[in-house]
This record gives sequence, C-alpha cells and structure tokens, in this order.
Amino acid sequence: MKPPLVVGNWKMHGAESEARRLARRIRRGSGRMRGVEIVLAPPFTALHEVRRVARGSRLALGAQDVHWEAQGAFTGEISPQMLAEAGCSFVIVGHSERRRLFHESNQIVTQKLSAALLSGLRPILCVGETWEERRTGKTMRVIAGQLGTALKGLEKSAIEKVEIAYEPVWAIGTGRNATADQASEVHLRIRSLLKELAGTRIAAGCRILYGGSVRPDNAAELSRAREVSGALVGGASLKAEDFLAIVRCFVP
Ligand code: PEP
Repeated sequence: MKPPLVVGNWKMHGAESEARRLARRIRRGSGRMRGVEIVLAPPFTALHEVRRVARGSRLALGAQDVHWEAQGAFTGEISPQMLAEAGCSFVIVGHSERRRLFHESNQIVTQKLSAALLSGLRPILCVGETWEERRTGKTMRVIAGQLGTALKGLEKSAIEKVEIAYEPVWAIGTGRNATADQASEVHLRIRSLLKELAGTRIAAGCRILYGGSVRPDNAAELSRAREVSGALVGGASLKAEDFLAIVRCFVP
C-alpha cells in the first residue's frame, strides 16, 4: 500500500529567494511527518534551488509540466529527461490550466504522460469537469473520457506508476472545494475505471488525489473521504504553515 501523497503546485509563483525560503520552512516543518509522501512543484527556474534545500529530506521534487520529445526545436519547452536530470521524480500532466489556457487536448496529455513514464518520472495526471459539465450531468462522462484517453494503450505496469488527481475545474483557485461526498463519488468511479483498464490489483494500488481549494480548514474532512489518497494543493501550498497543516491531515 502506497502512503498518502500531498503535492504543492506553486504555479507561476516563487522567485528563487522566495522558493528557497518556502522550501526551507516546509522542510523544517515536515521532518516528523512520517508515512506521507510530500512533493514540491515549483516553477522550472526554482527547481535547482528547491532541489538543493530538499536534499537529504523527505521532500521530493516535481515539475508542473513537460514536453513529450526528448529534445529538438521546441522553443520554450522542457523534456522529461531534462526534468529527471534536474532532480524531479514527479511531473504534473494535464492540469486544467494547461488544458484551458494553453489548449492542451487529451491527445497531447497522453503524449506527455507516456513520455514522462518512459523517462522514469511519475506523472500526476489531472482530470476534472467544468461547472457547466457538472450542472448538466456530464461529470462521469468527462472523467471517463480524460482518463480513458490518457491511459489507453499503456501497459498495466505503467498505469501503476501514474498518480491520478481529481480536480474539478470549478474548485481550482475559487475557494469553493468539492464536498467529501462529491469527491468520493468521483474517486470511486475513477477506481472502477482503473479496474477496467488495469485489473483489480493494480487499480487498488493507484493513488487518487483530490485537488481544488484544499485548505487547512477542509483538509481533514477531505482526507477522510472514501478513496481519497492525498491532495494536490495550489494556493495553500504557498504558505508553509497552511501547506504543513494540510499535510498533517494526511499523516496516517
Ligand atoms: C491546483 O492548482 O492544482 C489547485 C488545486 O489549486 P487551488 O488549491 O488553489 O485550488
């Protein structure tokens, strides 16, 4: 059984000195939080500094995005091999901000996911519905489409290495989180889709994180929700004490 996983997605925040300060505080505060895996995903430019701070600690390094090619004429992009070399062991793939603002299709997400796995990175695959899709009863169809396209064609042994993050688009950065029941309902569906794709044993071992306005005051309830095996945290990961309070809720 894998431990719970809590990921801090710093998005486009954190110049080097801020990133150093934040990572140091999180390092200091998380020293005794055993039994939970913690990943920091700073902007690309702060990876080096956060890696330095995290060395020898329980903190792992993640990136927020990746390109699918190893190298080439792709101005502005970063390859999986480069991220691995920079010390990343995780990478977020298919975040709704990438899908929405940068027009990433399910197809592109699939390419990124496969490339990350080939380089030994653990992808954190984000799926989630918009408010309009939820309102019109399409949530499960959207999730099944995103998950099915991304994982179709992967070996079962590769699916085991993918972390899934259910992030309702309407909950990201809005202060309006899904309730524990809403999260559980979708997580249960994701678990059954994983069973169909990879079989019961592998599906049971996959972690399904919840993301979307997780804060210290709702993390405990979300952490107890059925099938929630961790959290992907945006805004609240930028304050060490808030992020640590959230991590604490997932300590077994
Ligand atoms: C995110 O960016 O993945 C996220 C969940 O953001 P927030 O926690 O700010 O809603």
